[in-house]
Amino acid sequence: MSTKYVYTFGDGLAEGHQSMKNLLGGKGANLAQMNLIGLPVPPGFTISTEACNQYFQEGKNTVLETLKKQVYESVQEVEKITGKSFGDAGNPLLLSVRSGARVSMPGMMDTVLNLGMNRKVCLGLAEKTGNEQLAWDSYRRFLQMYGSVVMGLKPLFKEDPDPFEEIIEKIKERRNVVLDNELPIDALQEMVEEFEKLIRNRTGKEIPNDAYEQLWGSILAVFDSWMNQRAFQYRKLNDIPHDWGTAVNVQAMVFGNSGKNSATGVAFTRDPATGEKVFVGEYLVNAQGEDVVAGVRTPQQITKLGSERWATLANISEDDRKANFPSLEEIMPAQFKELDHARLKLENHYRDMQDLEFTIEDGKLWILQTRDGKRTGEAMVKIGMDLFKEGVISKEEAITRMEANKLNEFLHPVFKSGATLENAEIAKGLPASPGAASGQIVFHASDAEEWNDDGKKVILVRIETSPEDIKGMDSAQGILTNRGGITSHAAVVARGMGKCCVSGAGTIMIDYTRKIMTAGEKVFKEGDWISLNGTTGQVFDGKHETVLPEISGDFKELLNLSDGIARIKVKANADNPKDARVALNFGATGIGLCRTEHMFFEGDRIKLVREMILAHNVEEREIALNKLLPIQRKDFESILSVMHDKPVTIRLLDPPLHEFLPEDEVGMMQMAKDLHVKYDDVVEMVRTLHETNPMLGHRGCRLANTFPEISIMQTRAILEAAIELRKKGINARPEIMVPLTSMSGELKEQLSIIKETAQKVCEEKNDCIDYKVGTMIEIPRAVIIADIIAPLVDFFSFGTNDLTQMTYGFSRDDIGKFLPVYLKKGIIANDPFQTIDQYGVGRLVKIGNAHGKKANTKLEVGVCGEHGGDPESIKFFNSAGLDYVSCSPYRIPIARLVAAQAKIEQKDITVPLTVEEDILV
Ligand code: PEP
Ligand code: MG
Repeated sequence: MSTKYVYTFGDGLAEGHQSMKNLLGGKGANLAQMNLIGLPVPPGFTISTEACNQYFQEGKNTVLETLKKQVYESVQEVEKITGKSFGDAGNPLLLSVRSGARVSMPGMMDTVLNLGMNRKVCLGLAEKTGNEQLAWDSYRRFLQMYGSVVMGLKPLFKEDPDPFEEIIEKIKERRNVVLDNELPIDALQEMVEEFEKLIRNRTGKEIPNDAYEQLWGSILAVFDSWMNQRAFQYRKLNDIPHDWGTAVNVQAMVFGNSGKNSATGVAFTRDPATGEKVFVGEYLVNAQGEDVVAGVRTPQQITKLGSERWATLANISEDDRKANFPSLEEIMPAQFKELDHARLKLENHYRDMQDLEFTIEDGKLWILQTRDGKRTGEAMVKIGMDLFKEGVISKEEAITRMEANKLNEFLHPVFKSGATLENAEIAKGLPASPGAASGQIVFHASDAEEWNDDGKKVILVRIETSPEDIKGMDSAQGILTNRGGITSHAAVVARGMGKCCVSGAGTIMIDYTRKIMTAGEKVFKEGDWISLNGTTGQVFDGKHETVLPEISGDFKELLNLSDGIARIKVKANADNPKDARVALNFGATGIGLCRTEHMFFEGDRIKLVREMILAHNVEEREIALNKLLPIQRKDFESILSVMHDKPVTIRLLDPPLHEFLPEDEVGMMQMAKDLHVKYDDVVEMVRTLHETNPMLGHRGCRLANTFPEISIMQTRAILEAAIELRKKGINARPEIMVPLTSMSGELKEQLSIIKETAQKVCEEKNDCIDYKVGTMIEIPRAVIIADIIAPLVDFFSFGTNDLTQMTYGFSRDDIGKFLPVYLKKGIIANDPFQTIDQYGVGRLVKIGNAHGKKANTKLEVGVCGEHGGDPESIKFFNSAGLDYVSCSPYRIPIARLVAAQAKIEQKDITVPLTVEEDILV
């Protein structure tokens, strides 16, 4: 028996259902499901992703051999349900052919509508429907789509307009009309002639008259569009595997363009920008498919409330609104009611916000598609929390539904308060994707990429965006378009990327050739600064500073819910009071890593550090360190006081000393002058401290064991700071951490220095402070002897940056030379410095944790390398049994959510060693 490739649906029955997304694609699975829950869906069938994969593996002949018979039979089913006949001019059935991958890839692949058309069918359709306008409008649309999608007719040069659009524009100009739907029948006929001529001249071929030939051509073209460049790019940006393939959905056409009683639209069951529980959507009367999203005509709002809000934003009077842009609710109340009913049915069924497409044909409502709606981070949080509060989903579901990285978007910049924006507004568009952005104007996506590579911040300004622009959009700080509504390409893609976007700013004029934008009187050139507020739709002249917002409302509640579930704690890597404050604000439970070397570079103190380095003996070194002591004490006092009673892990000095010395001649001369020493002495010291492999050299506790005075000074500063704070009523909790341990002897040496110093401070001050001691685990040997060193300390902190470096033998600073090649060749799956290598470094973490805790049951174990803020790695550390992760302040909210997700998912991420994964080990 041949493989089943085709699954039919229609008239309340379906061979598929919503859980078959891998095989039928998201669209196909949901079309089947909507039939099953009784929504009006035009009948049709879905060709599986397996067929697409077979096409790419074995070519078109093999796949068509199996496919043809199944498709013939399925078309007959559709004919039976509709009572029409495919290719029959007397009673024509027209079909639509659309792509549909497992996950939605908006606008990336191709669609062909009105299949089954030819001249005879056009005339037949006109006669049968009595609607000549519809027949010719559908025919010209068919020619345009078939011509560009199947026959590949594109502009000759990248910046040229689409050749079909060029013809449309010329005819509209000649006929003196603004919109396509105002064209009389004979103008549409003229368009058909010109389209046919264009296709003939440019391809040397005719569009096939035979309906089935059109169908095979379109199915294969949709398969091909899976591999087009923009779809490929989109998958790369969104981590979608290339071997998923697309399904193809073939459906009976319904006509939103069959007159004044017809319409087509797109709607969201809740607001995708803010998450507000209101029905949001746009529609156009007498229009087909792409018209709404293409942004050519200004779409109207489906609800009266939405329409009124839109009119206020667009500065349109109530009279003008009612006359020219009324809502669907006002002009087709019965159909709106039915649509609203479908909205509730869909949300109840899918238990999530839906993005649906609908068409009204001569007063009859059809639902063409539904899917979980793409949303901003803000909307994701609000919708999840609202559904939880409404009792529709559990708190665990609300938490696991959140896309961790989207919270970045939630921490979107806003304009700094006090920014002088009042008189800077130059235009207003739709608030398509929230946040604030400032950048230099560029008009082409390729320029956005180039400028961004040069380190510039840009705003991509386009009349409208197309899927080709995706990489440029990703490179921009924000996107501004002149046309298009909140469902336009720019808006949908920007929201998906979490990028600020203002769309449909109709008052700005854009001239691509001269690279200028006009807003009112003012002309802006490429490179001029503008700013956008994607939350209000405002466009401002000039550069304006942006800042990150506070955590509040639903977001705060979500993170609090997460904290209630998570097992693994989240601490911060912070070296100064400012970062500590941010960390606290974002919910850090302490500081997991304070790198003291960063303090040595501040202000004038580098001179004292250099004095210490130049010392010829212990006495001289102590003199210099004594000058540093009060400064360090102040550093620790301020950071400990911000964190109050929360633990603060302070790491003793780690880097090799040459990092504090100048490298160039001018710097060395300056140093000699500052320290009143001979230039030659400085040169000699720089030469002496030079190391061949500094990362494996004189650093960490090795440094502290050769110059114990440094640890003594730092320990003293930490404890004196804590004693000082206690006088002010602050119960500081310092933890002293020894870096780069590889053997127990060197750790013991440091621990005794710390202990002796603490005792001295205690006696001198007549006050003692409770403090903890711990060590970083960042050398494989330390893991191997974890059971021996664990009893010596209170905590381990895995420095996974160094541990990765030392385990692989990859230099942290030189990996850029070969990592891109390794990634491209698939030798390695991820950058191991970003996401923990579970098989190797991760295994060491597990071993170190387990052996350490066995030898010291009170041992606390965490991670403070970059991996501590990476969602995938946090899940691994949770499963490995660690107690905390420590990451940079801005990653804390995400880490808190992921910590809860990890607990809920409770996946034991053991080390799977299957044959396929072998390559990654
Ligand atoms: C580490 O090695 O993971 C670490 C946190 O230390 P640093 O990055 O300062 O070497
Ligand atoms: Mg390190």
